[in-house]
Amino acid sequence: MLDWLSDDQRALRDMAETFARKEVEPLANQIDIDEHTPDSLVTKAAELGLYGLYTPVEYGGSGADIVSVCLVCEELAKASPAFAGMLTVQIVLCPKTVELLGSEEQKQRILPKAATGEMLMAYSQSEPSGAANVASHLTRAVPDGNGWRLDGSKLFCTQGTAQTYLVMCKTRAHDGREGYGCLIVERSDEGFSVAPYEHKLGWRGTNTGPIAFDNVRIDPEDVLGDILTGGFSHRAANHANLLAHVSTSLGCAQGMFDKTLAYVKERRLYGRDMAELQPVSYWLAEAHAKIAACRALLYETARNFDDGTMDAAAGNVCKAYIGDTCFEVCAKLLQLWGGSGIMDSTGVNRYMRDAKAKNIAEGASEMHYAIIANQLFTGVASLVRPSAIVKDAA
Ligand SMILES: Cc1cc2nc3c(=O)[nH]c(=O)nc-3n(C[C@H](O)[C@H](O)[C@H](O)COP(=O)(O)OP(=O)(O)OC[C@H]3O[C@@H](n4cnc5c(N)ncnc54)[C@H](O)[C@@H]3O)c2cc1C
Repeated sequence: MLDWLSDDQRALRDMAETFARKEVEPLANQIDIDEHTPDSLVTKAAELGLYGLYTPVEYGGSGADIVSVCLVCEELAKASPAFAGMLTVQIVLCPKTVELLGSEEQKQRILPKAATGEMLMAYSQSEPSGAANVASHLTRAVPDGNGWRLDGSKLFCTQGTAQTYLVMCKTRAHDGREGYGCLIVERSDEGFSVAPYEHKLGWRGTNTGPIAFDNVRIDPEDVLGDILTGGFSHRAANHANLLAHVSTSLGCAQGMFDKTLAYVKERRLYGRDMAELQPVSYWLAEAHAKIAACRALLYETARNFDDGTMDAAAGNVCKAYIGDTCFEVCAKLLQLWGGSGIMDSTGVNRYMRDAKAKNIAEGASEMHYAIIANQLFTGVASLVRPSAIVKDAA
């Protein structure tokens, strides 16, 4: 499979595999238990150039394509789905949004630092009224002098320890028109606050929690793109991120599979090899087939993304199908470990928990199926109708 990969893509995958085995795997269980990623691992990943993988060369990155990003993230996720998931926000979603929307000054200010890991970034859209239901969002920026004032709060912000936040929110232009924009907020901005660490089922190792804005000043140079449409006009960044995100779901399932196969090969039950129990070998074969199908779907879609031929809802198909399948695979394989799988010390139940967190993050499957259905019936692969939000002055 993937015999079409270039030599560069294969070399990147090999490099990530070695890094994952030597540097990530030994820490992976502890990251889950401590709910914290050691700074030393972040530094090593940055030194290896992983943070700038998808950033254009002219802004300090290596300008890799999304196929390469998925290969790297899949390898990292085999060892630690949590660490790999955190990286996708930093290396794809945030920099790609800046690259697509930003002025030259904004790109120069943010991208080189994000590419070295010097500037950790977060992307914040979700609100209590529903992550994707942006028409109902209450966080709002209103004009103040030549800039804006931002008030409100957001939920579930990954990498809450970041320095720079991209905030999607309701906006009002100086002429009174209403929209949904994308703003740059710094951790040091007066009136900005991050809630203490919130414990979670899976995808631990990074803070995912509420952030709040109390009269935060937004200068004109901190508006990304058009004040009225920036919040939903960077779809290519969202699609690229969906693919990177599900590559970590795929790596999660593959990591669980590899560990389970090794365990079953060693385990003896009732005086014979566990693998001789027919349902056990069938379950492993079935998991292998499902993972292979997910891998074919993901990389074919990623290749189409890179050459500009990806169908508008193909990222949603990947997110829903691969996310669901990888969770099912992890949950079923955990069964083969018996009580040992329930114990944290074996380091496998985290794969099932991480797969579930990934299955919800970046949009629950049902939301993605709703987008796919919209495309099937109306030709539009979206739930958000900008016309419902962008309004002329009253
Ligand atoms: C670990 C983690 C990290 C996250 N990181 C971030 C982040 O960095 N930034 C950020 O902005 N958000 C983040 N999120 C939020 C995430 O995107 C949302 O949780 C997710 O999109 C679901 O939205 P919701 O929680 O508001 O659920 P709701 O919108 O309340 O949906 C609840 C359930 O309703 C069903 N449903 C929802 N919509 C539809 C629909 N259209 N059709 C049919 N059924 C539907 C689904 O089963 C869904 O699970 C993160 C979430 C998690 C768990």
